[in-house]
Amino acid sequence: MTDSAVTQERRLVTAIPGPGSLERLDRKKAYVADGVGTTLPVFVTQAGGGILVDVDGNHLIDLGSGIAVTTVGNAAPAVVRNVQEQVQAFTHTCFMVTPYDGYVDVCAALAELTPGDHAKKSALFNSGAEAVENAVKIARVATGKDAVAVFDHAYHGRTNLTMAMTAKNMPYKNGFGPFAGEVYRAPMSYPLRDGLDGPSAAARAIDVIEKQVGAANLACIVIEPIQGEGGFVVPAPGFLPALAAWAEDNDVVFIADEIQSGFCRTGDWFASDHEGVVPDLVTTAKGIAGGLPLAAVTGRADLMDSVHVGGLGGTYGGNPIACAAGLGAIEEMKEHDLAARARHIGELMHTRLDALKIEHPVIAEVRGRGAMMAIELCKPGTTEPDAARTAAVAAYCHQQGVVVLTCGTWGNVFRFLPPLSIGDDLLREAFDIVSEAFTATA
Ligand SMILES: *Cc1c(COP(=O)(O)O)cnc(C)c1O
Repeated sequence: MTDSAVTQERRLVTAIPGPGSLERLDRKKAYVADGVGTTLPVFVTQAGGGILVDVDGNHLIDLGSGIAVTTVGNAAPAVVRNVQEQVQAFTHTCFMVTPYDGYVDVCAALAELTPGDHAKKSALFNSGAEAVENAVKIARVATGKDAVAVFDHAYHGRTNLTMAMTAKNMPYKNGFGPFAGEVYRAPMSYPLRDGLDGPSAAARAIDVIEKQVGAANLACIVIEPIQGEGGFVVPAPGFLPALAAWAEDNDVVFIADEIQSGFCRTGDWFASDHEGVVPDLVTTAKGIAGGLPLAAVTGRADLMDSVHVGGLGGTYGGNPIACAAGLGAIEEMKEHDLAARARHIGELMHTRLDALKIEHPVIAEVRGRGAMMAIELCKPGTTEPDAARTAAVAAYCHQQGVVVLTCGTWGNVFRFLPPLSIGDDLLREAFDIVSEAFTATA
């Protein structure tokens, strides 16, 4: 599957972390702020396909893609080629000073790929949080209204406005207030925990918004079509379309935060596509550029153009190297039909996880779409979260050289986000280890 120069096999030559990583961890401790944590403290020297190589020569299987970023794989050929060419040509002008093609090319690609065939425009930024903030700015100017509706378990970033929008206190918000105002939280559709069908869950959310905010004050609804950090919560079918329809009827901008779910991750270009939802604005980042910092707000041309000239921008937003990487990543996705690859990986993972669920009743639910798959761990027969077991299984996987990520409001969800460049054999081996981890920690 992969053109990577990295040998595609799991190979452990030391304990994890090995002596080389341990030595570097001491340096990290001395020079890097403690607030910047690490999930698995091995220092990486090379990566590609489905493998991360560390300083001790260990080859680890990557089921995290650096949090859904290296969807096209690490050092994907078209990304490397485009970046090398661009870095030699010029590195920065600031698009707001003197423009260049790469920025416009990325915006044209976004107009083509994001949901809906209406006229679309984009603005480019450096991080997901920055894209979310700008989407809110645009919605406020366009509607002349202030309030923002978000959902339980939402994650939208770590800047001041996006901390207010993010649900979970620890570690994202604790002690960092006061937060931005005019942000209101509505109940999310969470089938495992609320048992509601999509339309009923939407009616519940809309009732909260109407009674506690009022459509006359609401600029936008911001929602992750499949929640990321909050636990890979997949809303019941019909939830998103009902919210989008209500937004349209009430002059409220419907913003899909596709930062984690976008760019082939779920087996479509965007998770909104699955239910035919056409958001007014879409925020993207993470998988867009194969690892370089690039983010975007894309949406209805009239909405995007409601902002005065000079109102959107930033020194580095749409940096030429990041744009070159983004165009390379999109080329990889199209050429290798990575959406189809995500669906195949999704089927493989779903089959393995369904089998695991039968053996281990601590797994309350298998959910997700495409290569964005999760299991939620609860005390058997209940919905009481089991974070301790989750941590134990994760630790076992890490020691065995499989990089797994957890998430969820209660820290009791495994999220599986392999790079789409991973081979089937590696993926099967990784899930053999995950399976072993459940048995070993039972
Ligand atoms: C990661 C993420 C963000 C924030 O992106 P950053 O690039 O870390 O600022 C926002 N929304 C969602 C859904 C995300 O997954």
